Amino acid sequence: MRVLFVEDEEKISKAVKRGLELKGYAVDTVADSDSGLSYAVDPDYDIIILDRMLPGSMDGIEVAKKAREEGQKAPILILTARGSIDDRVEGLNSGADDYLVKPFSFSELVARIQALLRRPPVPSGAVLIYDDLSLDPSKYEVKRGDTSIKLSSKEFSLLEYFMRHKEQVLTKDMIINHVWNEDAIVMPNTVEVYIGYLRAKIDRPFVDKPPLINTVRGFGYKLCH
Ligand code: CA
Repeated sequence: MRVLFVEDEEKISKAVKRGLELKGYAVDTVADSDSGLSYAVDPDYDIIILDRMLPGSMDGIEVAKKAREEGQKAPILILTARGSIDDRVEGLNSGADDYLVKPFSFSELVARIQALLRRPPVPSGAVLIYDDLSLDPSKYEVKRGDTSIKLSSKEFSLLEYFMRHKEQVLTKDMIINHVWNEDAIVMPNTVEVYIGYLRAKIDRPFVDKPPLINTVRGFGYKLCH
C-alpha cells in the first residue's frame, strides 16, 4: 500500500517512514503544504497522512480539503498537536477521515492506518480472503488452506494489493505505483521478479489447486481462480 506522509518534523517523518516501510508500506514523505498538495492529488496513494501545522501557504486541513476537491478518494488522516473538539470537527469537515493527536505512538498510527484501509470498497473484517488464500494485515499472516506462508514485506505488500483488488487486471504500472515508493529503483522486470517470488510461495507448492496469480497477456496480472 502506498502512503503519502506530509510532515515537517524531520525526526517524526523519518521514524514513521522507516517503521511503515518495515511493515511493507511504500512511503513518500514531503515536508511542506504546497508540495504536499501537489503529491496529495495523485490517485496512486492508498492513504494520505497530513500533519496539521505545516510550513507553506496552507495548513494540513486545507491540503485535505483541496485534495478532496481535486477528486482524491483515498482515506486521509490528520495529525495535530491540538486535541480540542473544534479542531476535530474542523478536520473531519475538511474531508479527512480520521484524526490523531500528537504525540502518538507508532503502533496507534499503524492501527489507524489499517482501520482506514479496511473501509469500503473492501468490506469490514480485518482478514482478506480469496479462495482458500487468507491474508491478515494486522498480524502479517498469510495462509493457503491450513498452510502458513512466510512472505517478505514486499511480497506481502504485493499480495495485499492483489487481494484488495481481486479479479481485477492490475497492470505493471499500477503495481509499481501502489507497492513501491517514488524513490525506489524499479527495473522493467522488477514486477515480474516479485510475481515470480509470490507464485513460488502461493501457487507452486499447491500443485493440486488452481494457481491464483494469473498473467493476463499484454495487460498485467490478476488474482483469480
Ligand atoms: Ca508540523
